[in-house]
Amino acid sequence: MNLVKYLLAFAAAAAVVGCRSVPITDRTQLMLTTSEYENGLGVEAYSEYKAQYKASTNAEYNQALARCGKAIADVADAEDFQWEFIVLEDETQNAFCLPGGKVAVYSGLIDLMNNEAELAFVVAHEIAHAVARHGGERISWGYLQSLGGVLVATGLQNDAADTIYGLGTDLAVMLPFSRSNESEADLIGLILMAKAGYDPHASVQFWTRFSSDASASLLGNLMSTHPCDADRIAAMNENMPLAEAEYQKARDKKGYGITFTHKSAKK
Ligand SMILES: [Zn+2]
Repeated sequence: MNLVKYLLAFAAAAAVVGCRSVPITDRTQLMLTTSEYENGLGVEAYSEYKAQYKASTNAEYNQALARCGKAIADVADAEDFQWEFIVLEDETQNAFCLPGGKVAVYSGLIDLMNNEAELAFVVAHEIAHAVARHGGERISWGYLQSLGGVLVATGLQNDAADTIYGLGTDLAVMLPFSRSNESEADLIGLILMAKAGYDPHASVQFWTRFSSDASASLLGNLMSTHPCDADRIAAMNENMPLAEAEYQKARDKKGYGITFTHKSAKK
């Protein structure tokens, strides 16, 4: 079967099976990949990160991540995830959750946090991207774009095939998320951290501390993939009553959890 026929058949099949409903927000999303495929990419990328960075030996950081990670995983409703959590020793200020539940936080980001609930917020936000399968959604749109490219330029069939083949890893785990993905992850993350027993107000406190231009540069890496502005903080405040209601129902309330003893956190 030539490539165009293959893609047409693929598109026809996709039209039948290619949608999914996002947990918590119930948004209908395009979904032309399988979670098995995405989770496989996650496992691959995770082992690359673990080979590239040392695991942190900071007992406080490791215990806080293990504790809030497990609490959030327990309420994330993702049976097909094989959860793993690691603090990577590096001054990078960033964190991520790969498809399938592989969560990494750089020690440089925790250096800027006041307490465990702020860590829970960041971790819950990253887990929200994975639970909402934002990576799979991007791969799916990439497939459709490639299909469009093939149909208008049949001379470029091989290039298009290469593009489709090469799309997976970058789209699933590497590229920054869109604004709408960010808003959705903020809402889902807020709900998850509250269900896990962390005071959801820590989320806004964390972002507000870095919302001025001067302090935003401290969060350089996180900001490049998760831009934060007044709109974002306003949206989180709007969603706060939903999160508060979940927090009230949480059985094991931890409040703000432990306060980190490092000296570099901004008050
Ligand atoms: Zn995000």
